[in-house]
Amino acid sequence: MTLWPHLPFDPEETLPSYADRSSMMHTGRGMERLIRDLGINVEHFVSGREEAVSNFANAIGQQSDEILKNTIRVLQRTAVFRGEPVSKTFLSPRTQKYCPACVAEDGGPTARRFRLFWGFRHVQRCEKHNLWLVKSPNPKATNLRVALGSDPLGKHEYAPEEMPEYLQWMRQRFQENLSEANPWLDGQTMEQVIAASEMIGAILQFGHDVRLSKLSAPQTEEATDVGFSIYREGPNAVREALDTIRQTSQATAVQAGPLAHYSVLYDWLGRRGNAVEPGPIKDILRDHIADNSLIKPNTKVLGEAIKDRKFHSLRSLSQLVEIPNLRLARLLTKTGHIPEDASANEAGTMIFEIAEVVPLIRGLKTAIPLKDVPAYLGATKFQIEKLYAAGIVEPLIPRTAPGSVRKVVFGLDHLDQILSKISSLPEMPAKSKQNFHRIAYACQRGAGNFENVFSDVLEGRIEGFRDPEKAGIGAIYVDVAASIEMRKSV
Ligand SMILES: [Zn+2]
Repeated sequence: MTLWPHLPFDPEETLPSYADRSSMMHTGRGMERLIRDLGINVEHFVSGREEAVSNFANAIGQQSDEILKNTIRVLQRTAVFRGEPVSKTFLSPRTQKYCPACVAEDGGPTARRFRLFWGFRHVQRCEKHNLWLVKSPNPKATNLRVALGSDPLGKHEYAPEEMPEYLQWMRQRFQENLSEANPWLDGQTMEQVIAASEMIGAILQFGHDVRLSKLSAPQTEEATDVGFSIYREGPNAVREALDTIRQTSQATAVQAGPLAHYSVLYDWLGRRGNAVEPGPIKDILRDHIADNSLIKPNTKVLGEAIKDRKFHSLRSLSQLVEIPNLRLARLLTKTGHIPEDASANEAGTMIFEIAEVVPLIRGLKTAIPLKDVPAYLGATKFQIEKLYAAGIVEPLIPRTAPGSVRKVVFGLDHLDQILSKISSLPEMPAKSKQNFHRIAYACQRGAGNFENVFSDVLEGRIEGFRDPEKAGIGAIYVDVAASIEMRKSV
């Protein structure tokens, strides 16, 4: 059986709205009457089961794929729209809001069409008339005939002229007509993009205490638009927004949990049993938490264990570098990582970046004092003092840091680098021994200041050789005449 005449299907309209109009035309009664007359299970039809919807399309002489495209499949906890899972609050076939101008243009009560686009929670205005959508008197209905009854249509209230970008994006995506490819957004469901945008924008615009359900329609639009302008740019832009969110949180203590730092964003992503997977925002936030806070190894954050930590507390650092707490605290005070006036309690709440602190601490364990450096580098005490003063031999802890000269220590890594530069100098040719002299002698003969000649040799600005019989700085030979020439030319 095929019904006649055909009532054209509007690709903007929801299936229940269209079915109600068809039923009114053919039976003079509401949707259920026609569905039942066609021998279709009403419950199956209302929940958008494919078989029921296809049977309906065939019976009224419509392309079933056209109609299926506008069908919201309602499941127990979630819904599916065009193959994408959606939560029931994101997209609903119920007539919660409508544009009074669009509906007035439709005509009488049986000609009113509920636009599917109005069913998206984040669609708050009519793009055609630029009016705020009006709350319907019966938000549980699925067609406007029942929703509006004999009530007058709502007032016209104009939205700001500028159309939000997210709304344009949603519209394009809804019409499967995206103007530009954005692989980052294209790989996500519409809800993942819009929900994450709204959450980020809401915190940035309205603060950490924001409650999305308490926002007005213009505020929801504003939050989503601000968030979308960031979110669409990709993961780096999202990370920067998280930096800002973290910085603007009231939480100062290092032990403060992620909820204190990321508030509703963390609450949303940390919630068990989100109806719809929130998408990449969850991984980005997890990484952000791991990068910025103190987390015990293998702690689960947002459902996954954190493996590579980047920060340590004094206590866990102490275990890592095997230096007792108190001594480590003194070392870190010396290196400037703990303020001089910090109490033991305060030091205990601080965190330290592993990449920066651990090599320093390990270096300190094997570092040697100034008095031992001449022997280590094969130089005289006078030479080392000159190199130290010139900054060529550098102490492990920068000299701007507090600590007296007597406690100055030098990292073995740094000293070994100097030795390896020396040992990579070419061996002195036996024939030219007369022209070349040890560096100390060359300096006395006018080759220049020791520290200058030394760094010139090391950096290859003047030719230097090495006596394989000797080690360290004492093994360096230079050409006095060449060195004097070089200095004249500078
Ligand atoms: Zn309108």
